[in-house]
Amino acid sequence: MASQIVPVHLKPGKEKMPRLFHPWIFSGAIIDGDRKILQNLSGKVNSQVLARVNDSRGNFLAWGIINPRSQILIRLVDWYESLPDLTKLFTQLFLQAFRFRINLGLVDSPQTSGCRLVFSESDGIPGIIVDKIGNYIIVQIEVAGMESFRSLILECLISAVKTTMPGVLGIWEQSDGDGRSLEGLPKHEELVWGEEPGEEISFYENSLTFLAHPRGQKTGFYFDQRENRKLFSQYVKGISVTDVCSYSGGFSIYAGIAGAKSLHMVDNSASALSLARANLQLNGLSAQFTQADAFEFLRSLPSSSQEALVFDPPKLVPSRKTLDRGLRAYKDGNLHSIRALVPGGILATFSCSGLVSQETFEEVFSYAAKDSGKRVQILHRLHQAPCHPVLTSFPEGRYLKGIIARIL
Ligand code: SAH
Repeated sequence: MASQIVPVHLKPGKEKMPRLFHPWIFSGAIIDGDRKILQNLSGKVNSQVLARVNDSRGNFLAWGIINPRSQILIRLVDWYESLPDLTKLFTQLFLQAFRFRINLGLVDSPQTSGCRLVFSESDGIPGIIVDKIGNYIIVQIEVAGMESFRSLILECLISAVKTTMPGVLGIWEQSDGDGRSLEGLPKHEELVWGEEPGEEISFYENSLTFLAHPRGQKTGFYFDQRENRKLFSQYVKGISVTDVCSYSGGFSIYAGIAGAKSLHMVDNSASALSLARANLQLNGLSAQFTQADAFEFLRSLPSSSQEALVFDPPKLVPSRKTLDRGLRAYKDGNLHSIRALVPGGILATFSCSGLVSQETFEEVFSYAAKDSGKRVQILHRLHQAPCHPVLTSFPEGRYLKGIIARIL
């Protein structure tokens, strides 16, 4: 199906960000008449429409896909003026993204067979997430603009997978991100190519074995913490580790293999803990498990009772409206973590809220340290793994930040 082209004009002054390769055009940046035309495309998500985005004087800026119901009305995909050949464009982008991870040894090396293969805007393919988990590929389409190009995108994906990853057995679509419902898209699960993955897929990360359940639930595995798990594990030989918000046990398993004396995993989800239990067994380890609310658990810990703690909560600031409450929760969790640690104790603490900057997170952490009455050293400032790259022109892609600290 040929794409229809809609010319769009931005308000004066709004051309700066797209010119600097920022990929989002908010509805407020578009002149009223053009905006209404785009918003009226709502309900026609199957029509393939490309926006030709111009500045207020009609000078070409970029090509974009349209998300009629989103505040981010256009997501830019190409900055060359000639009409893009989308099949060529997306195939190239997939190949580039895959080759980068393959060269890093994250895709099919003897040590590691799982990672994020495509991180949406940060890899130039807005609204598309692709993970490799063992022999399977899991793809998520997160935005309406990409949903309308679904078959084209999936064809490009299949062709790039076949070219670069001959060992892959199947490609599964698990489109169930929160963003979809906001754009009026239903959840969608489907076999895209090859063999259907089972409920459980096993893979390696840094020579450790993990199971993931990518189907029927939001996330298979948090690949973004790969480097941070390894770094943390270097501090825990011979000491006890309590892993709060453990999910499937990533931090604990690295710590156990690195020689931690004992492991204790805490999560409020029974299914996360049962996956963690299976992962522990696969790696020949044992642990204590507690199903509890992280904040209540941390508050209940006696002072100076813990040798090492991980605090990796879910996104506590999902929207601007929740900023104050979320920051208070980060402060509270960190305060009780610091309070519970012995002198010399190690804390790995994280925020995966994109709306909380590194600076703000550190400020909150410093307040928590101050209120604890202890002296706290920052050893490392942490970031998401390189399979979740961050474009300088799109700082929104940075969401994970963390600190490894030591209590004096
Ligand atoms: N550290 C993990 C990832 C953590 S994801 C890893 O390395 O893989 C966040 C986890 O927090 C999820 O498993 C979720 O079930 C859990 N969670 C969410 N809210 C919680 C709460 N209030 N108390 C305890 N756990 C919670």
